[in-house]
Amino acid sequence: MIGFDRLLQDLANVQIAERENRWRLAHTLKAGYNLCTITERIGFLRSAASHLHCTQNYIRQLIEVSVAFPEGHKLPDVSWTLFRSCVAVSKRSGQDPQKILTDALEKGWHGAEVAAAYPQCARRMLRGRGMCGECNAKVEVRSRVGAGLRLVCPFCVSTDRAEGRQTVDLRRYVTVAVLE
Ligand SMILES: [Zn+2]
Repeated sequence: MIGFDRLLQDLANVQIAERENRWRLAHTLKAGYNLCTITERIGFLRSAASHLHCTQNYIRQLIEVSVAFPEGHKLPDVSWTLFRSCVAVSKRSGQDPQKILTDALEKGWHGAEVAAAYPQCARRMLRGRGMCGECNAKVEVRSRVGAGLRLVCPFCVSTDRAEGRQTVDLRRYVTVAVLE
């Protein structure tokens, strides 16, 4: 019979491998997601969830954590739950997920403690307003995320789509407004 210490070491190794594999899964999903055009993304999430026998929500979560903590940021002794909580709190509060994680590690917090420590502060509403130079449509967008995002004209994009010119290159559209 193997010794107790040896068994614990084996268990720790299995857990490290499990976490590393989850990161590989997350980074691979993110790479795939980034290759998709905006219109292909929903289909990608659906197909990935179906192939991996899990929910689209879980796939989205893996991608979000991989975006917030790119390769090189993983820590083998930190649970996935903690990373996930940091991302969730970051989305809610607008604070940097890596800063939230550093804070949590310093204080020895677990996932639920991180969520409880940050107040339920709502993000400020951002606004982007302007007129399209191509079609003269007035565009106004409100969002709590996407500060600095350059908005293209939804009317021009929709017209192109309706007329079968389904372009994936949004760079050809002029910037109508910037979210701020
Ligand atoms: Zn337009």
